[in-house]
Amino acid sequence: MTHSYDDLIVIPKLGRQLGLNLGNAMPQNSLAHGVYFSAPTVDLDAYDRIVLCISGGKDSIASLLNLIDQGVDFNRIELWHHDVDGREGSTLMDWPFMADYNRKLAAAFELPIYFSWLEGGFEGEMLKENSYSRPHKIETPDGLITLERDMSRAKPGTRMRFPQVSANLQTRWCSSALKIDVGRRALNNQDRFDGQKVLFITGERREESSNRAKYNQLEPHACDRRNGRKARHVDAWRPVLHWSEEQVWDALKRHGVISPVPYRLGWGRFSCMKCVFNDAVIWATLRYYFPGSLQTIADYEQRFGTTISRNRINVLDVSHQAQPLEVDDIEALDQAMRSEYTLPVIQRNGEWKLPAGAFAKTGCGPV
Ligand code: SF4
Repeated sequence: MTHSYDDLIVIPKLGRQLGLNLGNAMPQNSLAHGVYFSAPTVDLDAYDRIVLCISGGKDSIASLLNLIDQGVDFNRIELWHHDVDGREGSTLMDWPFMADYNRKLAAAFELPIYFSWLEGGFEGEMLKENSYSRPHKIETPDGLITLERDMSRAKPGTRMRFPQVSANLQTRWCSSALKIDVGRRALNNQDRFDGQKVLFITGERREESSNRAKYNQLEPHACDRRNGRKARHVDAWRPVLHWSEEQVWDALKRHGVISPVPYRLGWGRFSCMKCVFNDAVIWATLRYYFPGSLQTIADYEQRFGTTISRNRINVLDVSHQAQPLEVDDIEALDQAMRSEYTLPVIQRNGEWKLPAGAFAKTGCGPV
C-alpha cells in the first residue's frame, strides 16, 4: 500500500532529513518537549492560525469536521491544497476536478483556501534532465508568491522516469517534492507566521498502517522555530489519528458532506488519478471507463525505457491483468474527467449515501 511504503520508508527517511523522529514514538503519553502520543483534543483557542492540509480525501475532510465538532473559531482556519500537476498546463497525474472540488469544498464551509505547487508539477519535475528543480508557487492572503531555488546550494539533477518504489528519495520522489516540501516552504517563507502560534493539521489515521499506528498525535512540526529568531511556534496535529474508517464516514454523514468522486467510483483510497501505486484493477478501470487516459503514461514509459511497475510490465499490459470495477454511479463518472466540479458538495435533500469505495481495499497499492 502507498501508505505503508510512505510510513515505513519514505516518511521516516524524510523525517530524519528534517531532524524529526516520525513514527517511532513510544506508545505512552508522557513524551517530552510538546510531544504527545495521544492528543484527541487540543486547546484550539491557544493557536493564532490553524492550517489544515486538505487533499479532498475523506480523512482530511474528517479532520475539518472534527475541528468543527470541537467548536473551532472559523476565523482562525485556513485550508492548504498542493496541486500535484501544478498550474502550468500539465494534466498528467491528477483528477481534473481536484482543484475546483477543493475550492468548492472550502466555499461550502466559508473558509479561505490557498493553493501551492511546484512549478511544472509532477510532469515538469519528472522531465528534469541535467537541470534544476523549478520554483514553488504559494498562494497567500497577499497574493501569489514565487519561491526561487537557492542556486548557491542547488545542484542540477536528472529524473526522466516515474517515481520508483525505492528507499531512495531521489528515485521515489513525488510525495516529498510535490507536497511535503511545498508545505514546508510555504510555512517557512511567510512572515505572517513569525511570532505566531500555528497548528498544522494533517489527516493520517492509525488504522491505515502498522507504522502510522505509532505516530504521535501532537508534536512540534519540522518548521517549528519557537526558540529561534522568528519565534514561530508550529505544532503538527493529527486530529483523526485515532479514528476508525467508520467514524470518518459517520462524520461526513452527520455533516452532510457528499462522498468525493473517487470513492463513488469504487476507489478505496484517495490519490492522484494515475497514482504510480495504482493496482491492476484501478488501471483496468481507468482504461475501460476513460479510454486513452493511460496513453501518455505508456508513452513516457517507452521514452524512459522504465515502467512504473517494478516488474517491467507497461501500464497498458498491467491494465489487462484485472477486471475493471463495475461503476454504476453515472453522476460521478460524468464528473470524473471534467475540470469544473459541478456536483453538490453538501447534501441538502435526500438520503446520504455511503460510496462504493467505502471500506474497500482497492485503489492504491504497489503494482
Ligand atoms: S502519484 Fe501517488 S504517491 Fe505520488 S503524489 Fe500522487 S498520490 Fe501521492
